[in-house]
Amino acid sequence: MHTRLCRHATGEPAQYAASAIAVGLTEIGFSDHSPMQTDGFDDWRMRLSELDEYVELVTRARTDFPAIRIALGLEIDFLPGHEDWIRDLAHRHNWDYLIGSVHYVEPGWDIDNPAKISTWHNRNPAEVWAAYFDRLSQAAGSGLFDIIGHVDLCKKFGFVPETDFMPHVRKFLSTVARAGVAIEINTAGLRKQCHEIYPSRPILEAAFRLNIPITFGSDAHAPDEVGADFPSAVALAKDCGYTHSLRFQQRERHVARL
Ligand code: ZN
Ligand code: FE
Repeated sequence: MHTRLCRHATGEPAQYAASAIAVGLTEIGFSDHSPMQTDGFDDWRMRLSELDEYVELVTRARTDFPAIRIALGLEIDFLPGHEDWIRDLAHRHNWDYLIGSVHYVEPGWDIDNPAKISTWHNRNPAEVWAAYFDRLSQAAGSGLFDIIGHVDLCKKFGFVPETDFMPHVRKFLSTVARAGVAIEINTAGLRKQCHEIYPSRPILEAAFRLNIPITFGSDAHAPDEVGADFPSAVALAKDCGYTHSLRFQQRERHVARL
């Protein structure tokens, strides 16, 4: 879940916590977009000077809402060459989990940014998807993250290759399995043009066959999105064979029954 600090979400951690209790959740986690080393990198993440405030707000919500467990995490962009920066971030606070995500497939193009949708029209989706999954594999193999976020984000606007992209997915998933990372079932895709959970069923079925663990996320960018479509997410997980998911505490994994 996100907070107002990333500048494209709304609401305070306390509002997300209150909303989570109202919909019957017993645990939530914040994973707002991490800062970059330089604040001008883009306009959809917290500034470096806001990182401590973010941690304080989540910590305060923990105190104010003892009825629910609140995990402190970050969603970090994986960019080749940024590994030292990611390690630096990892050591700055007592994170419960770090989500590694790919939004950028090349400098200056964050493929899920609605303001840059025109770039998709000038590209071959097969090449973009290949670049995306290649970078996602690097993220999974980096050992920097506990969870890989929104695995097939490249489908967001509906630009899907006509050729079979599963070989790229399988290569990614085998890296995930080898690295012992989890993937998330993220319901935000249902709220986007693709109208589908991230990842798609064939990807999740392949993940299950490789014993890859899962987590659940609404990717809420507003308090009323907390836990959105979780019944569909759990049904999909069970359909694919899953009986358990993971929760994280101080970067240690705990298995929970669905
Ligand atoms: Zn966001
Ligand atoms: Fe993301």
